[in-house]
Amino acid sequence: MIGHGGILRELAALAASAEPPHALLFAGPEGTGRTMLARHWAQLLNCERRAGGEGQPPSLFGADAAMAPGSAEVPCGECRPCRHIAERNHPDIIILGPGDTLCRPRPSDSGHASHAISRDIRICQVRGVIELVARYPFEATNRVIVVEPSDRLGRDASHTILKTLEEPPGHTYFVLVTAAPEAMLETISSRCRRIDVRPVPRAEIEEGLLARGTEPALAARAAAESRGRPARALAVAAHPDLMGDRARILARCAKVASGRLTERFTYANDLTERWRRDRAPVLTELDAWEAFWETQLRESAAPGASAAGAQAGFVEALKAVTRARADLQANVVPRGAFELMLLCFPRVTLAESPGEESEEHA
Ligand SMILES: [Zn+2]
Ligand SMILES: [Zn+2]
Repeated sequence: MIGHGGILRELAALAASAEPPHALLFAGPEGTGRTMLARHWAQLLNCERRAGGEGQPPSLFGADAAMAPGSAEVPCGECRPCRHIAERNHPDIIILGPGDTLCRPRPSDSGHASHAISRDIRICQVRGVIELVARYPFEATNRVIVVEPSDRLGRDASHTILKTLEEPPGHTYFVLVTAAPEAMLETISSRCRRIDVRPVPRAEIEEGLLARGTEPALAARAAAESRGRPARALAVAAHPDLMGDRARILARCAKVASGRLTERFTYANDLTERWRRDRAPVLTELDAWEAFWETQLRESAAPGASAAGAQAGFVEALKAVTRARADLQANVVPRGAFELMLLCFPRVTLAESPGEESEEHA
């Protein structure tokens, strides 16, 4: 894993403590490694060598020992549970998101319609969770339920999961993952131990790429382009041509942002069609939009900038991108998500090429 050394040490200490927290909340933007941290936590709680290898069960001094410099405990990565968790193939590590995972409609619930595609985590799924945690795990020492994105727990679902979240059976741990912690019910988030996952500093990403054998010039550019997201940096390092696309995409962003409303609808239509064929490039394009509006925001905040006063609009635009991404993840009708996003974008007048601008800032 690239970056997050502080969080890894914190998790190691928590796992080694007498009572690891029953509910963690990873709060931070997408792509920063939240889900990977959740898997790491599951490994810490289940690694066979870590538990038995040293011949010492977690002791009162466990946490201190783990925090000593240079002795951060890590899961072995090789035992059966470690491997199955890494391969996303462990029956007791459960990902609960919008859809029909664990759906248990009540027999009396005659109005229950199938919801393989839905934008919320529903109360019938929470019932499934409650039913599940009452049983022992199949093979894990500690079952881990990852709720992602946890801000998609509706009101009723939140109230229903509350008690289980607060006092799950000893063999069950919850991890909530969200980019919008403020959108969660306070009663839920206050019952979790919150860990903020921030974008990783550029130098750390660059170092991580160099350590993996990436050629230095490419490592520097990929690190800059990733804007704090290790997964993106790794993808760019593996496929440098993604960067050429970037300049082209940013130029298109500038054209759409300064163009007329009809062009925006045409563009939304184009995104919708492309989303149907292949989602990944469209998500990359949303990244570019984020970078575009961040550049606008930074420049409008510079002393003497003519665009002062436009900041609020740029902040709204950034929020709109985040919401579109969450909506798409939650299976909202794509066209609606794209159109809403584009309608929230302010119209900008651009003097020079934004592609080159952002290169300089990178
Ligand atoms: Zn292991
Ligand atoms: Zn259901």
